[in-house]
Amino acid sequence: MVDRRVAVLGMFLESNAFARPVSERGFREALYLEGDEVTADALAEHPRVMGEVTGFHRRMAELGHWETVPILVTMSGGGPADHSFFEATAATAVERLEAVGPLDAVYLCNHGAMVTTEIEDGDGVFAAAVRAAVGPDVPIVATLDPHGNVSDLLLESIDIVVAYRTDPHLDQFERGEEAAELLHEIWAGMQPRLVHVRLPIVAPNVSLFTDEGPFAELIDRGQERRTPEIANVSILGGFAFSDTSHNGLMIIVTGRNDDTAARELARELADLAWSFRHRFICEPTSMDDAVELAVAAGEDPSLPPMVFSDLGDNCGAGGPVNTLWMLEALHGAGAQGVLIVNFRDRRLVDSASVAGVGATIAARFVGDDWDRDGDTTFDASARVLALHDGHLVGRRGIVAGKRLYAGAMALLEVDGVRVVVTSRAAVGNDPVYSEALGVDLSEVRTIVVKVRSSFPPAYDEFVRAEHMLFVDTPGRTSPVLERMPFTRLPRPVQPLDDDVEWSNPLARI
Ligand SMILES: [Zn+2]
Repeated sequence: MVDRRVAVLGMFLESNAFARPVSERGFREALYLEGDEVTADALAEHPRVMGEVTGFHRRMAELGHWETVPILVTMSGGGPADHSFFEATAATAVERLEAVGPLDAVYLCNHGAMVTTEIEDGDGVFAAAVRAAVGPDVPIVATLDPHGNVSDLLLESIDIVVAYRTDPHLDQFERGEEAAELLHEIWAGMQPRLVHVRLPIVAPNVSLFTDEGPFAELIDRGQERRTPEIANVSILGGFAFSDTSHNGLMIIVTGRNDDTAARELARELADLAWSFRHRFICEPTSMDDAVELAVAAGEDPSLPPMVFSDLGDNCGAGGPVNTLWMLEALHGAGAQGVLIVNFRDRRLVDSASVAGVGATIAARFVGDDWDRDGDTTFDASARVLALHDGHLVGRRGIVAGKRLYAGAMALLEVDGVRVVVTSRAAVGNDPVYSEALGVDLSEVRTIVVKVRSSFPPAYDEFVRAEHMLFVDTPGRTSPVLERMPFTRLPRPVQPLDDDVEWSNPLARI
């Protein structure tokens, strides 16, 4: 049997329009693989690529003969992609696709919320370029993050889409496997019939968890109601901060060969989502309350340990990983037993490295300038407790087993607050960042993470879920959407406007 040839490519970025643009260097530092590098990484013991890429490869190998045709996979987090790098990457992808000869399929592993410094539909334009390169008859299967903002152009350019069903995203590997299975169905003759509905709901990201709440109930309903006529149900809550005119909660139901059942289910799910529209809310803990709790926890060891999510500086959503609000407030209040993980400041790591472990340095933490009146530094005397080269392998949660690189790191102690300082933006969603520097997390009273979603499975061996709090800090990733300077979102939209009307386009006539 002749091996079926499948191109693998992706440009994976969740763009926060309010964050600084991601340059070519930003992508290359985070992840940029071309050709055989893609396959080698996907199958490595400790991959760097997204889990769905590994899942796709593994399942394809189990399902039969195939030849992977690796094109390129790049990934970053942050702001809009630098447009010239976006164009260069799309051009490289197209060139490689045209050079590799006939293909039996394409696997596209994008995120779905990419904007560039010039266009608001990075994923749609990228997918359209891929479609143009391979022609109309080669199936394109795509995986997306449920924080993707799916445009019509993206849907028109692909054959089938599979979005993760969990937040935190613990099912990436399984969704890659599912994409492989659906591709085999397509090869066996199944014709995917996509039905989609976009609703005027731009949910704050803190309302999109999948353990409980409206998004969880929607996802569960979609899976419960699947029948043999339905190939896939993907529901995307979207990513408000991309600020695009195609933002909006998206329901995509794919029928097998026929769209009757898919239309029926999409209609039902859209009605259900609309009935939940007032439940996509954000109720964070105020900074004052959080600081009070941390001070108390530091003083009384019988109180439970906590994790605070610094919502305004969520690394996963484009936060710069260096806002000063929590550091200033907790230090100012004299809180003890606090650990901030991570804080990005390459120069500070350099100073700590030069001074060495045990030294006391005049530390200057340089922070983000969003909403600050000129004051972007925090100066304090700090002790250097530990240093590390920043090469790590994830231990828990969504990065378990993955190769991580934070750049050189230092553990600094500023009175009752210890800070894991990294040279690169690194999501503190694994205990290894602290443990590599000798921290015993079971003794920390308050852990402050600059990430919203993926930290609970990382820290739940130390802190109970009810003591993981979302703290309302200022910043480029504040889920208090009323504060954010949106310019492109479709209006009116829930929850920003009161007068949103909507009627289901799939309503029975
Ligand atoms: Zn996501």
